[in-house]
Amino acid sequence: MAKIIVSNCLLGAKCRYKGDSCRNEAVCALAKKHTIIGVCPEQMGGLPTPRVPSERVGDRVLSQEGVDVTGEYKKGAESALLIAKLNRAKYAVLKAKSPSCGCGRIYDGSFTGELKGGDGVTAELFKENGIKVFTEEDEDIWPFKTE
Ligand code: SF4
Repeated sequence: MAKIIVSNCLLGAKCRYKGDSCRNEAVCALAKKHTIIGVCPEQMGGLPTPRVPSERVGDRVLSQEGVDVTGEYKKGAESALLIAKLNRAKYAVLKAKSPSCGCGRIYDGSFTGELKGGDGVTAELFKENGIKVFTEEDEDIWPFKTE
């Protein structure tokens, strides 16, 4: 059994910027074998729901209206990391492409749906702290599927 940090929106929480969720059945099914710990870094950083969408632009995170929300994103990432450390979680399954949770590919900062290589703010911090980060799109390589 593993302890796995999971994006709350993948568990069905309506915490996305539009006020909806993106429940993923394979992610939810992990709870049958593992301890699942849900987080939403954007809410934990103090942002409201619904909220104006944001994307990573260089070292900052900007809303579509041009507001700098880097501080909120960093605060949420630190809070999520604290929860991961308190639970000694080695793994995370985070929402693909998100400026907080995305891993490997994220929206490119143009708000056009285009992607670029990179990690969301929380995924990046998790990796820096030794947590192995996956997304819901990586199901075929989740190492804990067979644990
Ligand atoms: Fe989902 Fe992460 Fe965005 Fe929260 S911050 S809505 S958990 S993708």
